[in-house]
Amino acid sequence: MTDEKLLQKLSEYERKRFAYTHASGIMYYDGDTVAPPGSYLVRGDTMGELAMLSYKLSTGKRFEDMLGELIARKENFDAVTKRKIELLKRDYDEIKNVPAREYADYARLLVESMNAWREAKKNNSFETFLPFLTRVFETVKRFARYMAPDSDPYDTMLDRYEKGLTVKACDGFFGKLRARLVPLAAEIAPRYENVDDSAFRGCYPAALQREFSEYLMGVMGLDRERCIIGETEHPFTTNFSKYDVRITTHYYEDSPVSSMYSVIHEGGHALYELGVGDDITLGICGGGVSMAIHESQSRFYENIIGRSREFTAMILPYLRKQFAPRLDGVTPEEFWRVVTVVKPSLIRTEADEVTYALHVMVRYELEKQIVAGNLKVKDLPGEWNRLYREYLGVDVPRDSEGVLQDMHWADGNVGYFPSYAIGSAYGAQFLREMQKDIDVWGGVSKGDLTEINGWLCDRIWKYGQLRDPGELFESICGPLDPDVFIDYLAGRYGV
Ligand SMILES: [Zn+2]
Repeated sequence: MTDEKLLQKLSEYERKRFAYTHASGIMYYDGDTVAPPGSYLVRGDTMGELAMLSYKLSTGKRFEDMLGELIARKENFDAVTKRKIELLKRDYDEIKNVPAREYADYARLLVESMNAWREAKKNNSFETFLPFLTRVFETVKRFARYMAPDSDPYDTMLDRYEKGLTVKACDGFFGKLRARLVPLAAEIAPRYENVDDSAFRGCYPAALQREFSEYLMGVMGLDRERCIIGETEHPFTTNFSKYDVRITTHYYEDSPVSSMYSVIHEGGHALYELGVGDDITLGICGGGVSMAIHESQSRFYENIIGRSREFTAMILPYLRKQFAPRLDGVTPEEFWRVVTVVKPSLIRTEADEVTYALHVMVRYELEKQIVAGNLKVKDLPGEWNRLYREYLGVDVPRDSEGVLQDMHWADGNVGYFPSYAIGSAYGAQFLREMQKDIDVWGGVSKGDLTEINGWLCDRIWKYGQLRDPGELFESICGPLDPDVFIDYLAGRYGV
């Protein structure tokens, strides 16, 4: 076979792989937004079949022959193809020892488990979710052993979301954060005890909030030809290439601020996906490179930009007009204080910038202990509540506001949570570098994020998966340093 023929085979493989991912992604998005609840059983079967097709495509004899040839001739190809070969080999090594049947069963289990979680959360009933969650933890642990028999299973899980991340690195990172964050939160929180947010409570009709979402997406520079917004219980972003990115939000009619920050957060994820280079978006190197880099973008927009004095002052006139006359008497400073309140609380997604990482630490400790076999899944609620008291000083009144609040474990995402805190820390270091090059706050004050988007696109978005996350980050900022993140927080709150 000539090199040319081999490359042709590779691109045929990429087209099929893209099609399967595209199809299952659309079903996932549909299932979480508009599909009727009863559809989950049938969807589970279809997702299982699609997972099976994907598995066969990326493990069968034809694939193995192609990969073997590609590896043997790697030196003949350009840098992008070399990277594709590297990523394919990595994926193959991960998946090759997982039996096909178990792979398909797992896809079905996740659909059932997500359904059980939704019901359990609604009914505040951890017991009904327990059998599903137990099976999910057992399966991800078994898969981690298949993938890397000689490694610590939790290291393998962390590595899947953030290449190169280990328990040791996480322990160091979180240890440093905790030491400075807990006293910082304790120092700042009392200043916000008397914040009056009553103007932002009451009736904010969903219809008006939908228009507000459109406005925010416009400010962020999201291309509406390629990005839409839907509604769901738990906001997320899904992408099928830079040509189709879907964000979601949830409207609470008594609080416009909740959806506002969901839209900005998910909009940050979407910008990243929309900015991937044209030449790589449909192939193996398309899409964001890791969860932590992804969260560094979403949390950068949500917090660093979205909760800045400049941003809140810039959008207040629109809010006053859109929701007139409720906000007529609100000053920029009052608005800023409402959206930057620091208060230890129960719900991670609603947490402030300072205490957020403590919520993540609770989940990190718990999943680490479960995977190590030191904690039983049935004992999760008790441990959850204990750690919330220890790290955040709050009592959890019921599991729906405690251990049942997040979808991640139900969806098999064990090893994902640390990405949120690491992403926040990445974001602070990106800001530090960005400020050396452009007038960040001047742009935000004018409602013009073009320069910021351009800076991020040039250094991060356009590369898709061409570089590993650690390498990409260090090429821009040098080593990860949690102190930069804490210093940024201290600066924002004038401590
Ligand atoms: Zn996110």
